[in-house]
Amino acid sequence: SNIFKSRLPSIEIPHQDLPTFWFSQMRQINLFMHSSPRPVFIDGIRNSHERLYLKQMQTMCLQLASGMFHDMGVRAGDMVGIVLPNTIYYLVCTLAVQMLGATCTPANPAYTADELRFQISHSGAKFVIAAPTALSTIKQAVAGILPYPQNVLYVPTANHTDTLLNHEQPCPRSIFTLLCDKPFSRFQPQDLKQLQRTPAFVCYSSGTTGLPKGAMLSHYNVVANILQGVSVQKQMTASNRTTLAVLPLFHSFGLVLMAHSLPLCGSSLVIMRSFDMSEFLYNIEAHRVTDTLLVPPVINALAKLNSSEWDISSLKWVISGASPLSSSTIKSLELKYPHICVMQGYGLTETSPGLSLNVPGRRNQLSSGELLPNLECKVVDDKNNVLSIGSTGELCFRGPNIMMGYINEYDATKHIIMDGFLHTGDVGRIDPTGHVFVTDRKKELIKFNGFQVAPAEIEGILLQHPLVRDCAVVGTFCSKRQTELPRVFLVLNQDEKLHDKNSVAEQVVEWINSKVAYYKRLRGGFVVVDEIPKNASGKVLRRVLKESTVSSNVS
Ligand code: AMP
Repeated sequence: SNIFKSRLPSIEIPHQDLPTFWFSQMRQINLFMHSSPRPVFIDGIRNSHERLYLKQMQTMCLQLASGMFHDMGVRAGDMVGIVLPNTIYYLVCTLAVQMLGATCTPANPAYTADELRFQISHSGAKFVIAAPTALSTIKQAVAGILPYPQNVLYVPTANHTDTLLNHEQPCPRSIFTLLCDKPFSRFQPQDLKQLQRTPAFVCYSSGTTGLPKGAMLSHYNVVANILQGVSVQKQMTASNRTTLAVLPLFHSFGLVLMAHSLPLCGSSLVIMRSFDMSEFLYNIEAHRVTDTLLVPPVINALAKLNSSEWDISSLKWVISGASPLSSSTIKSLELKYPHICVMQGYGLTETSPGLSLNVPGRRNQLSSGELLPNLECKVVDDKNNVLSIGSTGELCFRGPNIMMGYINEYDATKHIIMDGFLHTGDVGRIDPTGHVFVTDRKKELIKFNGFQVAPAEIEGILLQHPLVRDCAVVGTFCSKRQTELPRVFLVLNQDEKLHDKNSVAEQVVEWINSKVAYYKRLRGGFVVVDEIPKNASGKVLRRVLKESTVSSNVS
């Protein structure tokens, strides 16, 4: 009785694989919603006129799948790394891979060679589709793991592709050279039967503890979450709906709830390669954008913008997710732009990712939205006792979008999914109307601008430094930027020659910052301590460090 069932009408989840489902739904949309075909994806780079229509996408997907099957030997069950920034061809690549019954593992193209190597070998990826800018890193990352350049494809994304490729000899093939003319006669998409047991994506997340792990999202999980999202997102209506797609597509929020769901609401997506405020505003005016999905620090920056030469009056809806958004930020944005309504949502990579979203007409500014259809929520205390509805504790969810488990990580899966409920590591409550409130986080995870920073990963690298005896990385909230910043507490090796501990620590921080992707850098600074506080079993008392009032040194 203390398990809360979603109040939103249940939805039927079709037994179709992701490409079959997505293309059949899109054909219906094109047939019934638009009087003339609208592009599905529009290139958001200024002066680019590239657009992708549904028919083109379907043909390209089949051609690419056929080419990958015959020329590269991609087969059902294979894992394919997708190391791309946002591009209008992102879904062409992922859907083509999935048509073959293979799985995509998306990675951040800003990763260092070590970070990529970890994901490629951990997921067992045999092939990689990458951006030209990532090729030299990929070459280092895959050395000894998979044949380069034979098993690597690139997607021409920037104007500078040719110059970049001159440095990359021998060079991988472009996806366009692989497109086969007569895909239908040479290849039939896989008829996937085990939709709940075939991963469509393996997305990396550190979960509640430890190193990043690959969350296996089945075809069924992803189809379910697309429909759960659409059930609310379609209520944010606008004629000629156009979405500004700036969230990274290698993260599940952008990938599922933006790139797959919104076209099914009839939206055309203007794809921006990365966030840049003036290009963002320019695109809103140029494409008469009606809605967008953002992370809280960007909403905060938008609310603080002093003046703008752009007309953004077409923008009606801003969906926020990936980290907490304060109601004061919502208020200041809406005060400044009265035509905008901000709707907060909440989810995790492990839940494909959406769990809750505010519903138009019933928004609660303080909440992260209403529990999405077909989901159940319970709240437990530290001993796993279920609490009454309305009490605060760890939020747990059960439903069709809960991941299959972590790839090759049986124990970690067993600890996070119990009785079908995913234990989020987030602290909060659900009220009788189904609104979810996320009030704290008890897991180790740090989020910088919506990106995951796993303390264990940074600590593991830091401990390799000869001058570091012990360390702990925790998040510290920066109210000016409305995001957490990773901060390190460092215990340095005793050394008589070391007089200026701060300058040594500074060197250590510079060293680690050069070894990790930009968003993992220790922007919260460092604190040199004699000892890291731990409990009797040696577990770092992160809460003590987080709440410590010692001011840090920022290097
Ligand atoms: P990720 O797997 O990268 O999507 O990160 C999931 C985590 O981000 C959640 O477990 C939360 O800690 C945090 N998160 C996402 N959305 C929200 C939200 N609306 N409010 C608070 N925390 C959030």
